[in-house]
Amino acid sequence: MSVAVVNIGRSHSGDLVGTPLPGDALVCDGGVIAWIGSSADVARGDHESVLDAGGAGVIPGLIDSHVHVTFGDYTPRQQTVGYLESYLHGGMTRAITASEVHTPGRPSDPAGVKALAVAAQRCFADFRPGGVTVHAGSVILEPGLTRVDFEELWEQGVWLAKAGFGAFDGPLDYVPVAQAARAAGLLVTCHTGGGSIPGSLDRIDAGAVIAMGAHVSFHVNGGPTAMTPEDNEKIVVEGGEVALQLAMAGNLRSALDICRLAREHQRTDRLLISTDTPTGTGVVPLGMFHLIAELVSLGGLPVELAIAAATGSVGRVYGLDAGILAPGRPADLLILDAPLGSAGEDWAGALQAGDLPGIGAALTAGHVRYTKSRNTPAPKRPVAVV
Ligand SMILES: [Zn+2]
Repeated sequence: MSVAVVNIGRSHSGDLVGTPLPGDALVCDGGVIAWIGSSADVARGDHESVLDAGGAGVIPGLIDSHVHVTFGDYTPRQQTVGYLESYLHGGMTRAITASEVHTPGRPSDPAGVKALAVAAQRCFADFRPGGVTVHAGSVILEPGLTRVDFEELWEQGVWLAKAGFGAFDGPLDYVPVAQAARAAGLLVTCHTGGGSIPGSLDRIDAGAVIAMGAHVSFHVNGGPTAMTPEDNEKIVVEGGEVALQLAMAGNLRSALDICRLAREHQRTDRLLISTDTPTGTGVVPLGMFHLIAELVSLGGLPVELAIAAATGSVGRVYGLDAGILAPGRPADLLILDAPLGSAGEDWAGALQAGDLPGIGAALTAGHVRYTKSRNTPAPKRPVAVV
């Protein structure tokens, strides 16, 4: 079953400079983007659905790299059912777990955290709430885990690890365990800043994140408590390739500071945009676009870079083929525009004005999941289903 999108206006392929699609039409087939070209070349009878964007734009579906997944489409922290499907109505087509640390009664012994990660990975391997792809199963680093444990997890399909919630006495005690996970091939993520819940460490600073060799500095602007300005500079300047994951639920002042530092030091390629929800901050379906709009309109982050930080850059850091719109890539995309009444002319102008775009349609794995978002304002140019 193929779906065509025609009459696309302003587009962004997901890369760092926001390269437009090479045409104003695309075709999705077999879960991937099969073709990009001119609307004049789309034979409408060849497709099961044709979406006429009417001049609205297209960008890759947003990838939130900090979602507190547990099991099913349910968050125990806020007692909410159906949040992942609701996030799809905010533009998130793919969620990456921040570890299953919110699972009630979660284990903390090595065998228990391994089993939890494997179970979560299995439970979401074929379960797509509302059409959202969920990468679940991130092992919570605890004392006693060894290189052999991480190699077993890797063989079981677990490829993520999370530092920051284990029963270690101090941040530097994570270093050998995090490095063993990394050596076994896992992608290591690390809580950054002040402790998020009672019982976690008081603070994990830039030096500890760097010493662990983490791939991603989780909520580098605080989750929700930020590092010092000196540590912000240290992780940008001395952090090598550590990805700088900005979180909507973090400290906005610190996020703006890290954006400025990343621009000054030409390291905006390391910026990722995420929500860090559901958490104490709540369930926030529009969280990705909220932070994008804030960084663009208040932080001077070019809109092209902000979209990349929520799409193609996430795919690159996490080794996924998603986040870029090109033939052969997953057909996860949004048709969007400035919302009705916005000062902006198109989705990019709306974000520059600090407004959230109106989403006209979302596709994941090449399927049309909706043609009217229930969470965003209506787009100026609505999508017509032909
Ligand atoms: Zn978190």
